[in-house]
This record gives sequence, structure tokens and C-alpha cells, in this order.
Amino acid sequence: MSEYHEAVIIGGGPAGLTAGLYLMRAGIDTLLLEKTLPGGTPLNTDRIENYPGFPEGISGKELMDRKVKHAKAFGLPIKEFTEVESLSFEGERFIIKTSAGLFESMGVIVATGTESMKMNIPGERELAGRGISYCATCDGMFFRNLDVAVIGGGDSAIEEALSLANIVRKVYIIHRRDTLRAQKILQERAFKNNKVEFLWNKKVIEIAGRDQVEYVVVEDTHKGERSRVEVNGVFVYIGSAPNTAFLKELVKRDSAGFIITDENLATKTKGLFIAGDVRKKTLRQIATAVGDGALAAVNLEKYIFEKKP
Ligand code: NDP
Repeated sequence: MSEYHEAVIIGGGPAGLTAGLYLMRAGIDTLLLEKTLPGGTPLNTDRIENYPGFPEGISGKELMDRKVKHAKAFGLPIKEFTEVESLSFEGERFIIKTSAGLFESMGVIVATGTESMKMNIPGERELAGRGISYCATCDGMFFRNLDVAVIGGGDSAIEEALSLANIVRKVYIIHRRDTLRAQKILQERAFKNNKVEFLWNKKVIEIAGRDQVEYVVVEDTHKGERSRVEVNGVFVYIGSAPNTAFLKELVKRDSAGFIITDENLATKTKGLFIAGDVRKKTLRQIATAVGDGALAAVNLEKYIFEKKP
């Protein structure tokens, strides 16, 4: 037995929730499937300062709680803890196989976002959860008044290093180059923060410790010299990879696995639209995810109305 809806949205981050809000307001029978709880990546962000409309900033959790509430206010049903295992298109209908059973729909919006990339170095797997984290907002408190390392030089690394600096004794930002990718405003704040020390041109090649993280081994990218940096925790922020395995051949991907869409966020499979960070795009922000969600929803709405008997 399967459950039928006109539209199914996969993923409950900013893109998926916006798509849900728009589809419900358009009178489309919609269901949103979410692997865990709705909210997506912003839940891991302590403070969001570049989402328009919040001049004083807002916590990731509060912003996403508001988006969930807003979508629900227009009746969007959200099925939590439902992981999509496969998606196929058979005889004009999508078949969505999930951990909570089968669903069918006329159209689908995939808004599954990305997940943190791993370093794949010795010690990372062994000490996971014992001093290694991919979420400063979730785990920062465990390192109060201790020393930590943040690996990476993008927005996530610098933003989260700054939020850790409010809690810990010292933050080493270990970066493989000598310039940062992060926004200038974040860079300036980090350079001024006296709890933050940059280790430039250093590659972390091992994370070590007996039961807990005790130090990382870094290698200078120019001289090849190796040294130890003693820390109690390591926060890895080296980018993210798209969650698309369940889509198989229904879409085209770029070399990093992000889904390629046209300007209407459509894919090579009719009725299948893509929104948010999982899509090949130049700017991954909550603001652009929200825009994607709205655009995908409006285009799916058109598709459904053309198809409806
Ligand atoms: P990014 O891909 O932007 O940055 C990844 C960083 O990790 C880079 O500095 C990269 O180095 C480094 N890196 C990559 N692989 C390795 C490796 N194997 N070993 C060591 N270092 C490595 O990822 P983010 O997660 O920071 O950001 C993802 C997206 O989300 C971006 O588009 C970003 O702008 C956006 N974002 C926006 C925020 C905001 O607006 N407030 C907040 C957080 C994210 P290198 O520079 O040398 O390539």
C-alpha cells in the first residue's frame, strides 16, 4: 500500500520548508519528508547575521523554528524521521520508497542539502564523538575553557571558530593555505579575536589521543615539516557534499555530485525539481535556498496544473 500526494518534498531545510509553504498556499496536496527533524543545516549555526529582516541577527534554531511554524500554519504535513531510500518515475508517477513505507506523487522537489565532509585521516574515525565534531553549536559547550582546533578556511570554519571563542580558552584555525575563503567581515573579526590563532599553510595529517583527542599532527605545506598541536577538541569544517544517492539516474550531476538544473530548477525528469544547497549553484546561503524553494514550488505547481485531468 502506498500513500498518494500531488507533490512530495524531500528535505525540511530552508528550501524544502519554503517550497512547502508555497505549494500549500497554491492549494496543492503536499507532503514533506524529513530524515530527522525539520530545520536543516542552519540548526548547526549559532548566529545568522546575513538573512535579511533580522538586523540584530537570529539563532539558526529560532529562524528555522519560525519557518517550520510558518509552513505548518498553512497546513503542510511534515513526516519526520523518514529517510528516502529510492526515487523512481514509473508510468507518470513518482514512487518514493522510504524507511516509513511507500509514497507516490505527481511531482517531487528534492531539497536534501549537504552533509559535512570528512578528513579521512588516521584518528578521525577512531576518535569520532570523543573530541572530534562537525558541529560547534551542538558540541562547543563540552570544551569550555579548553583548547580546540578548527580545520578549514571557509565561512563555516571562521563563523564557528568565532562562536567557539566565546566558550573555549583558545581556538587554533588550521588552514591549508595562507588566505581565507570566508567573507571579509568574518575574517576581520577572527583576526581581531585574541583567543584565535591561525596556523597557515598547514595540513592536518593525523588526530591522536588515547581515549579522547589529545593532539593533531600538522604538516607544513611548503617545508614538509611536521609538528604537534595539543588540543582537546577538533572541529572539522572542510566543506560539504550533496545528499543525492537515492536519485540514481533521474538527474545529471557535476563532478562534485551537485545536481544540475535549468533556470526553472527542473531536471531531465519531468516533474522533478531541485532546490537549495544540493543544487549546482554559485552561492549557498539561506537566502538563496529560500529563493530556490519558492521557484521550484511555483514551477511544480504549473506542472501539476497542466497534468491534472
Ligand atoms: P567551503 O567549501 O566554502 O570551504 C571549505 C574550506 O575547507 C576551504 O577553506 C578549503 O580550503 C578547506 N578544505 C577543503 N578540503 C580540505 C581538506 N581536505 N583539508 C583541509 N582543508 C580543506 O565550505 P563551508 O562549509 O565553509 O561553506 C559551504 C557553503 O556554505 C559556502 O558556499 C559558504 O559560503 C556557505 N556558508 C555561508 C555562511 C554564511 O553566509 N554566513 C555560513 C556557512 C556556510 P581552500 O580554501 O584551500 O579550498
